[in-house]
Amino acid sequence: LLGNMMDVPLLVSSILRYAETYHGDREIVSRTVEGPIHRYSYAQAAARARRLANALVALGVVPGARVGTLAWNGYRHLELYYAVSGSGMVCHTINPRLFPEQIAYIINHAEDEVLFTDLSFLGMLEGIADQLTRLKAVVVLTDAANMPAASALPNLLCYETLLADQPDAFVWPEFDENTAAAMCYTSGTTGHPKGVLYSHRSCVLHSMTICMPGALGVSPMDVVMPVVPMFHINAWGFIYSAPMVGAKLVLPGPKLDGASLTDLIEAEQVSLTAGVPTVWMGLLAWLDAHPDRSIASLKRLIIGGSACPPVMIEQFRQRGVNAIHGWGMTETHAASCTSLPKPKHALWSPEERSALALKQGRPFYGIEFRVVDEEGAEVPHDGESYGRLLVRGPWVAAGYYGVSDSPSHATPGWFETGDIVTMDADGYIQIVDRAKDLIKSGGEWISSIELENIAVGHPAVREAAVVARPDAQWSERPLLAVVLKEGAALTAADMIAFYEGKVAKWCIPTDLVVLDELPHTATGKILKTALRTMLMTRLAE
Ligand code: ADP
Repeated sequence: LLGNMMDVPLLVSSILRYAETYHGDREIVSRTVEGPIHRYSYAQAAARARRLANALVALGVVPGARVGTLAWNGYRHLELYYAVSGSGMVCHTINPRLFPEQIAYIINHAEDEVLFTDLSFLGMLEGIADQLTRLKAVVVLTDAANMPAASALPNLLCYETLLADQPDAFVWPEFDENTAAAMCYTSGTTGHPKGVLYSHRSCVLHSMTICMPGALGVSPMDVVMPVVPMFHINAWGFIYSAPMVGAKLVLPGPKLDGASLTDLIEAEQVSLTAGVPTVWMGLLAWLDAHPDRSIASLKRLIIGGSACPPVMIEQFRQRGVNAIHGWGMTETHAASCTSLPKPKHALWSPEERSALALKQGRPFYGIEFRVVDEEGAEVPHDGESYGRLLVRGPWVAAGYYGVSDSPSHATPGWFETGDIVTMDADGYIQIVDRAKDLIKSGGEWISSIELENIAVGHPAVREAAVVARPDAQWSERPLLAVVLKEGAALTAADMIAFYEGKVAKWCIPTDLVVLDELPHTATGKILKTALRTMLMTRLAE
């Protein structure tokens, strides 16, 4: 017997329609690539998204076609999110920090028909123009006054000119909620990047979920600044969840340094933000050097993408900010769990609560976790036994675009994350390591994350990474690379002494390499493959 309720599809267009109707005067503030701060309302954003939808039709883009974006967090990018998906096309956000060859591969593999780009990336695009044979047009996200006089790119159009010619009346079509809305390529550990195709249903359900109290609790009272780029897993859902509840949105554009972020936090009274640890490391260092500046309006700060060291949570706590650790991946629409406490944790000691805050967290309603051993049997939920994390849920990828068989789905109905975790009795997971980053020493596993977290607690250390070094006796040993704080000094003996008592003796890295900087991925994570090659070459010299 079927239920007797309306079958109204969950569509991305409904979010902006809602924001326009019920929160039409709430602001969206953007730092532009051209320089000035731009501000307008959800009502104005919705009207411009409709003009853009008309412009896309005029360009000959049809439902189902992929529309690429190479852009920072800004209001025109937000208009693209809604106009493209809302008209049944697929909004394909591309990470501009990838290598140009990877960008060309991704644009061609997704078969993007039109590409919208910020001025920042025109030079890079000109370098790969001869490989982009499928593109009908490249639209520059700027006005006529800022358009380049000449370009090697064929069919270069101006965004504001395109919009100026269009009416702002457009009726968002209704279609199946399982239609593709957005697309995001994951970097992939081997071979080419792989495309995850989000559906309207998955975008709406994930965004509703992160608004829940106990998840990220996005509320109408919030001023939300996603520092996480709109090309990194759709800014972890905030471009949908903020208008869904009528929160004010602050989009920081290309400037993610400590000074620029603090300026926006102070001026716009940002209350909730999110991003990877590397960005927060920069913000905290800048604030330390500028004691007259404050981030007092900030109440919650979501940290994810890679493990958050305890010292970072503590430094934010001292500034009155609740730093919340979360875990997610491109294949799970980003955040799927956070380390927020339960009521009973109020009775725990401060040390126990700090240890809990360091975990990646417990799943939100809607997503299920399983932790299994090599044989596929569930490991005990004791916070100590570890195994492979499998996930399932309505916003977990069932496959990759254009790939028929995926090893990530070796356990039917479950997605293999590639992460090794523990789970405690309350369901909180803690990432021990990515399977490929674990150090296998003398038949035991050493967590590179645990060693890195300790290293950054040393007063001389700014950033740290641990990789496996081949070893004749132990098979692998941990090798620690650090970047020091300005003017600081550190010897291997100092570091070993600092580790003593914090981890088992056999886990302590005995080799230390001090570097000027660590290599990072396009999303700001430490690039362990490149670091390992760099260190091995250096040690062999
Ligand atoms: P990429 O593989 O390019 O980094 P993703 O952003 O999808 O792409 O990365 C997801 C992975 O990032 C997870 O599988 C996990 O290994 C890691 N990760 C995400 N959040 C955390 C976290 N809070 N702590 C440790 N690792 C994390």
